[in-house]
Amino acid sequence: MAAQYEITIKGLVQGVGFRPFIYVLAHELNLRGTVENNTSGVFIQLQSTEAQKDLFLQRIVNEKPSVSHIADIEICETEAKFEFHQFSIVASNHSCGDITRISPDIAICDKCLADYHQQSHRIHYPFVNCTHCGPRFSIVESIPYDRPFTTMKEFEMCSICNDEYKNPLDRRFHAQPVACNHCGPVYTAYIGETVINDYQTIVDKIAVTLLKGGIVALKGVGGFNWLADATNDEAVKKLRELKRRYIKPFAVMCNSEKWVTENMIVSEKEWEQLLSWRRPIVLLNEKRKLSSQINDHLHTIGVMFPYMAIHYEIFKKSGLEAIVFTSANKSGEPMLRDNTDARAYLLNSSDLYVEHNRAIYNRVDDSVIRVIDDKPQVMRRARGYAPEPIMNIDDVDGGLAFGAEMTAVFALGVGHQILMSQYIGDLSDYEVYEAYKDTLNRLSTLFHFTPQYLVCDSHPQYLSSKLAEQIAKEKKLPLYYIQHHHAHAVSVMVEYDLTEECLALSMDGIGYGDDGESWGCEVMKCDRIQYERLTHLPYVSLPGGDKAAKECWRMAVSYLYAIYGSLDMLPPTLINQVGEDKIHQLSRLLISPLNNQLTSSAGRLFDAVASLLGVCYVNTYQAEAAMRLEQLATTALFDTKIYSSHALGDWDMSSIFQGMLADIKDNVETAIVAMRFHRSLVAQLVAIMQRYANETNLNKVLLAGGVFQNRLLSELLIKELEDKGLDVYYPTIIPCNDGGVAVGQLAIAAARLNKKNDYA
Ligand code: ZN
Ligand code: ZN
Ligand code: FE
Repeated sequence: MAAQYEITIKGLVQGVGFRPFIYVLAHELNLRGTVENNTSGVFIQLQSTEAQKDLFLQRIVNEKPSVSHIADIEICETEAKFEFHQFSIVASNHSCGDITRISPDIAICDKCLADYHQQSHRIHYPFVNCTHCGPRFSIVESIPYDRPFTTMKEFEMCSICNDEYKNPLDRRFHAQPVACNHCGPVYTAYIGETVINDYQTIVDKIAVTLLKGGIVALKGVGGFNWLADATNDEAVKKLRELKRRYIKPFAVMCNSEKWVTENMIVSEKEWEQLLSWRRPIVLLNEKRKLSSQINDHLHTIGVMFPYMAIHYEIFKKSGLEAIVFTSANKSGEPMLRDNTDARAYLLNSSDLYVEHNRAIYNRVDDSVIRVIDDKPQVMRRARGYAPEPIMNIDDVDGGLAFGAEMTAVFALGVGHQILMSQYIGDLSDYEVYEAYKDTLNRLSTLFHFTPQYLVCDSHPQYLSSKLAEQIAKEKKLPLYYIQHHHAHAVSVMVEYDLTEECLALSMDGIGYGDDGESWGCEVMKCDRIQYERLTHLPYVSLPGGDKAAKECWRMAVSYLYAIYGSLDMLPPTLINQVGEDKIHQLSRLLISPLNNQLTSSAGRLFDAVASLLGVCYVNTYQAEAAMRLEQLATTALFDTKIYSSHALGDWDMSSIFQGMLADIKDNVETAIVAMRFHRSLVAQLVAIMQRYANETNLNKVLLAGGVFQNRLLSELLIKELEDKGLDVYYPTIIPCNDGGVAVGQLAIAAARLNKKNDYA
């Protein structure tokens, strides 16, 4: 009898066509045994020679389904109790309640696109899918991932679909959302009172509406979207009014690689991202200006390719090359999910309203990524990414981390897996806060999760912290508070499996400091349990608190006052723009004892510089000033001057501000001044990090915090730190912004609990 091997493959291997792939491969290699899904992943029993087993494993690794991901393969040789005569797929064993992974939603695959055009029962069937593609997370209500636990339970499979579903050699074997023209979900369109059910007519109407400059509301994978012709300024303007989003850039969907090549600068890595099955929005640099209505004043634009069959059809029918594609809700509100809510809100406001009858269980927005230092970095983690777990060294089981506030994401701990929620939004909006609570309930149900302990930000005013306190009280659970920038730093440690002490540079807009001040540019020595704040950007006044984060001119005034002790150096342009009255009022506030809030925020420093240079006086959306400043600087990459500083290894904002003011006076081009600011800041940061690396004997540097969404700053800093021989780590799969904070919170709490540290 041949040897028997028991092989367990862990990772993203369920719901992505893994078992049929194994089945077909085993038959091709004439192997005998079984394959099944179990709670750890895919389990294979194989009776073969060692050489056959090795070849089998090698081909599994090399040829696995594109969406799948193998985290680990365990092999053990056992004694065969009986002989297998063939290779077969065995029914899943779901008796145990352990977690199995749920795949993120996957963009329609090429084979399904082909079926859409030629397979008789799926000709022009818009919800065509298979084991390699289609909805997943958005439709799952509970685990295990089986049709009765998805919103597809409403649809009874026809006999053809059922045959495919049962045939191990079919691409739709156990494809839970399998459907066709006879049995699956359908679109319905509404124009006022008129109801249209015919799919082709609906697509025609969408095309015509877009071409006429109208706004189409269309239900998608994880919510509703608004569409408008990106080349029609009037249409985009109309969309801005509707959405009450007047300046923040829109993303566009396009369908032609040629169009992208003509209009955007795209690196190989960016192409890879654009065309990946995750289909995120990728931030690209424009080759030529598309429309100021889309991304006023910026040179970057979010671009994505179609991910549903209907998207392709809309491009084909309309002949359009770029469509503005945004969630169909007022700016700052959560994505709409239910047809009833959507109809009530979108039917009258849009020129055409199109829904389908496949219910969305988990709302999930489009994801956003930016390639930085030739690595894709997730900025908004949602469709195509959620709910892929992040593996953690410590056991995080039962931990629930509430995240921050402006970019709300929470995280559940299951075993060693950190399950981040999809991006939810800014909790200060009531509807978003409700959506956050709702998502918390849904994901807890979905993963059969019951919290044992809670973790939140140490900011007492964050709504997420207040909710954590309320739940801790109700359920009598322990609650741990985590400092914001420590959480940022540890999120990077999680991504790279680091456990040793590291140096961290956390740069962001705001995080509650241990001294009650508003921190945001912190150099720390830390591990997963504790941290020591080594140094920070010198404090300046934060005049008006939250108001200063919005009205960035306040920070310019604050910095100049801190440096010169007077406002004599304020550039006349700034005074004219803001108005003498307001500046006078602010100067009174600056000397008032009532004004006692201080900040070391890097975000506020960028605000100050942006308004000093006349780039932006008021942030109309988060980080607007910083984005504009970065983009402007990027046009002056050729300039390499640095405002010299005598304070080597220490902060010296005065030399930077003096340098900038002198340049402004000399009428040096604003872009050049913006570039010099970036280079000078980087020079100081590098010297500071080097100094502390020497003093602490630590060589690993963690970069985290929303400021690192600035590609120019990140790339300059990473390169120079590496040139100095430091090992630099920055997040890529976990957002560097507050969307990644929950991961750090959970990892810190778990490390402390596991070390039985007397922390409480
Ligand atoms: Zn497919
Ligand atoms: Zn069918
Ligand atoms: Fe932050």
